[in-house]
Amino acid sequence: MKRCLLPFALIVCSTLGSTAQTKPAADLIIRNAHVWTVDASHPEAEAVAVLGDRIVAVGSNTDVDAWRGPKTRVVDAGGKRLLPGFNDAHVHFTDGGFALDSVQLNDATSAREFARRIAEHAAKMTKGEWLLGGDWDETKWSPPELPTRELIDASTPDTPVAISRYDGHMVLADSLALRLAGITAQTPDPAGGVIVRDKDGNPTGALKDAAEDLLFKVVPPLNHDQRRHAIERALQHAAALGVTSVQHMNPEYADIAIYSELLDEGKLTTRVYAAPLITQVDDQVKIGIRHSFGDPYLRIGAVKAYADGSLGSATAYFFDPFNDQHGYRGLLSDEMHPISLMHDRMMRADAAGLQICTHAIGDAAISAILDIYADIEHTHGNRDRRWRIEHAQHMAAKDFDRFARLHVIASVQPYHAIDDGRWAEGRIGHDRASRTYAFRTFLDHGVRLALGTDWDVAPLNPMLTLYAATTRATLDGKNPGGWFPEQKLTIKEAIEGYTLGSAYAEFQETEKGSITAGKLADMVVLSEDILQIDPVKIRDVKVLQTWVGGKLTFDAATAKNEAAGR
Ligand SMILES: [Zn+2]
Repeated sequence: MKRCLLPFALIVCSTLGSTAQTKPAADLIIRNAHVWTVDASHPEAEAVAVLGDRIVAVGSNTDVDAWRGPKTRVVDAGGKRLLPGFNDAHVHFTDGGFALDSVQLNDATSAREFARRIAEHAAKMTKGEWLLGGDWDETKWSPPELPTRELIDASTPDTPVAISRYDGHMVLADSLALRLAGITAQTPDPAGGVIVRDKDGNPTGALKDAAEDLLFKVVPPLNHDQRRHAIERALQHAAALGVTSVQHMNPEYADIAIYSELLDEGKLTTRVYAAPLITQVDDQVKIGIRHSFGDPYLRIGAVKAYADGSLGSATAYFFDPFNDQHGYRGLLSDEMHPISLMHDRMMRADAAGLQICTHAIGDAAISAILDIYADIEHTHGNRDRRWRIEHAQHMAAKDFDRFARLHVIASVQPYHAIDDGRWAEGRIGHDRASRTYAFRTFLDHGVRLALGTDWDVAPLNPMLTLYAATTRATLDGKNPGGWFPEQKLTIKEAIEGYTLGSAYAEFQETEKGSITAGKLADMVVLSEDILQIDPVKIRDVKVLQTWVGGKLTFDAATAKNEAAGR
């Protein structure tokens, strides 16, 4: 049946005296849902109507039924919990997609098992092809010692290996890869990096932070098809997990090109905000792009900076030395050598209206970045900038107030807390650990949180992040009541940080982040009511449906269920 055009329909309908028909019918109605809207003016509802890619009504089943027309697709949610789609404020999307198909080392429980999996994977590869990815974590081995090239050399004579520690701040090379990169006993440590050496001064194969670049510069970049495949894998994975938006930190430009290609083809099923490295800031400055420029599916206009390394690789930068490494307090990144280099780049980014997202983990690195932010505000004046500190892990007591005063967003990844919580106190002691992943203290100081995962450093699954934020139960099972339990978030706070909070962090809180009429129809339906169940059970909750702009991007009823663990 033909639908009449709007003005005509209005006339016809009004002559029939039906007020319900005076507006266009919804394309989609989801009813009988238990909706938590994350909209403070209207927190709960039963049904949502969608027209095009936008929400047009939220309310009771009866309210929303007024939007029903003959062609409206009506979905009965069967009383299940419906939430705004999750917006992961910090991912490495291409790496994540690539890692899904690479060697899986993260859950290896010994150096032997680590070596066995590498040998098995290398045996299936073509000669000369680089073995990458891995996400190894030596803290899960006993004894927890850094791996060396000797562990893998025998099984990889023709395979150059550059496998990453799961935090991305260390890589292990085999002897062939070291040779190809020209890294020898004579190679000096670069600024902001360490070549780990044995007692004779020979490289062990482990390269930290800026030293990783010595190796990665000889690794051929992904070609177009490999990159596109990795991103398509990542998009599938995100849809299956209810992640409707991601903020891609330090993408290659080639990643943005793939996003753009997929967008053209109508295949970009997760919204992306891409923040390339600040080392390339002048590119965006030249074009004149400002923060959050673009399309609802693809935005740019932010830069990602690195102030230091990571706690796990002992390269996060602190005021005081590590408790387990005498006199050593970590490393500022190469971008901070000298600090004036970072200062100049940030000034240029800010003058151009770009948003700045800075990785800073150790208390001294965070403080140094807040100093630069304060100086920019002093020089360029006050405006709505939404500066971010990515990770914001270990805070100096004095800096919580500075975060609030400068309106800096803490872009945090709660899963890291239950992971690092296994061993962090041994490295930084009790006092510093008490201001670590201090989510509650941030909220108490009026600091906004944006939640995410840092995938593929941590799993992309939002249920694991919500579980981590609400339980703080470390992965080793040793803190069932929570590691520094006073820093737990409530489930409502955690959901808000993961939806509206991360939307705010990309200047999109009026477009998405809550189930509100007028906003983009990005929603998830869950198998259990995470607002009611024991937080310990949140990690087992599954996504039943994912909706992006009113389109169903994942349906558990029809999908051959992808393992949602990672
Ligand atoms: Zn990251």
